Amino acid sequence: MEIKKRLIDGNNSFIKRVSNKAEVKNLVNGQHPFALVITCSDSRVIPEEIFNCSLGELFIIRTAGNVINEGELASIEYGIEHLNIKYVLVLGHTHCGAVHASIHDEKGTYLSPILDNIKATIKDEQDELIATLMNANRQVEYIKEKFPHYDGEIESALYDIETNKVIFESKI
Ligand SMILES: [Zn+2]
Repeated sequence: MEIKKRLIDGNNSFIKRVSNKAEVKNLVNGQHPFALVITCSDSRVIPEEIFNCSLGELFIIRTAGNVINEGELASIEYGIEHLNIKYVLVLGHTHCGAVHASIHDEKGTYLSPILDNIKATIKDEQDELIATLMNANRQVEYIKEKFPHYDGEIESALYDIETNKVIFESKI
């Protein structure tokens, strides 16, 4: 009950903060996000916060380890083909639990679509940072394979939880 109250109170504060803004009211007419971000479900990795964006600006898919399986492809297809988004970012992050679990061959009831996906890319790599970059880059390649005619940009980046800095592919 305490948890639910925290959510209800939070939503009420949110309504107070945004409800009078014209750009927010306008969103009822449709969304035109300028970027599609695929990132981890990790609670410390919040694209709207990290990129200082607001409602309607980012189309976001979050899965543990920013892994893209078939269900995620459907969301990507919607974003790039129906919303016409011309920039796709796969955002990995430091201290990623999914990458850590893959390195250490952890098992779970439903984890295999995520962990096996990462493991197939990183193989015996033990360095978490290198494995994280390998995984993000592999997800980029996968999107490119699945959407060969996409004319927008697709790249990866790394969010550093310690510095809050996003390092883009070109700088890695
Ligand atoms: Zn993660």
